[in-house]
Amino acid sequence: AVFHQVGSFEITTGTAPLAATPVTSLPHWQVAAYGTAEGEAGGGLLLVGSLLVGTFIVAILLGGSLLLWQAYRHQREARQKTSFVSNVSHELKTPLTTIRMYAELLGEGRITDSDKQRRYLQTIIKESQRLTRLVGNVLDFSRLEQGRRQYRHDPLDLAELLQQLLDGQQVRLNEVGLVLDWDCPTQPQPLQSDRDALEQIVLNLLDNAIKYAAEGERLQVRLIPQDKTMLVQIRDFGPGIPTAHRQRIFEKFHRVDESLTARSQGSGLGLSIARQLAEGLGGTLSHVVPADGGSCFELRLPTDRG
Ligand code: ADP
Repeated sequence: AVFHQVGSFEITTGTAPLAATPVTSLPHWQVAAYGTAEGEAGGGLLLVGSLLVGTFIVAILLGGSLLLWQAYRHQREARQKTSFVSNVSHELKTPLTTIRMYAELLGEGRITDSDKQRRYLQTIIKESQRLTRLVGNVLDFSRLEQGRRQYRHDPLDLAELLQQLLDGQQVRLNEVGLVLDWDCPTQPQPLQSDRDALEQIVLNLLDNAIKYAAEGERLQVRLIPQDKTMLVQIRDFGPGIPTAHRQRIFEKFHRVDESLTARSQGSGLGLSIARQLAEGLGGTLSHVVPADGGSCFELRLPTDRG
């Protein structure tokens, strides 16, 4: 008879124990261990145990990788912020230095030639406009980051807006040797949109063409009305964007040449801001690779935005 048993295994008279030992002080008594058949209680316990241990190991591994990934992200962001601050300061410093230098020259009263005076003043105006664009970008960036950018829905004529904007940039384009090829329907192209946002998008794209694609000597701007959208194409004939960077140029702070000594200055914000603004207007901004070289940026805006 079984006097005491641990576990739910049923012991019948025919069952052979795995091991047994007689109790010396109690004749005919024995302590025995019985094995369970595969898949019964013992096997089940083993399975549950291994599952628990497995889950534990996977949880530790997952948690560890998550922590590592977060640490890597924080480190990358910290690095990007530092390089952003130095890039922006660098970009602000150049026009400021120029403005101060010409203002001091004029202030000393030693420049008597009126032609020279006018040229110096034009440089001061041009550089302060550049400062305004830079500060506009930084302000737009912080508003977008905090989700505080509000969009207007004013009725406007996109053809006229682009025409005015391009007229204002003609001198800058000519200075770097870019000839503008502007094509748009003659009739007005009505749109409900935000003038400042549209101007900032197009100016950022023009700035890039001036900075990176002047060697192409030509800049094509097209306004093509399509079904429910307006397509604005800005296409240059410069070196284009290396394949490895095409996916990333719209990321904030991303620059193809990140060194402070890069040929063209920048903070890597222009395209990121332009795309966020385009999306804020209910549209899209994308980069397409023309078959015969250069870069083409396509801005699509909805015409039926409520
Ligand atoms: P930034 O000009 O301040 O560096 P952007 O976000 O405007 O930042 O552009 C990101 C990068 O994309 C630039 O650093 C430049 O290398 C590349 N890029 C942008 N536009 C052009 C272009 N039209 N042609 C060649 N490269 C371009």
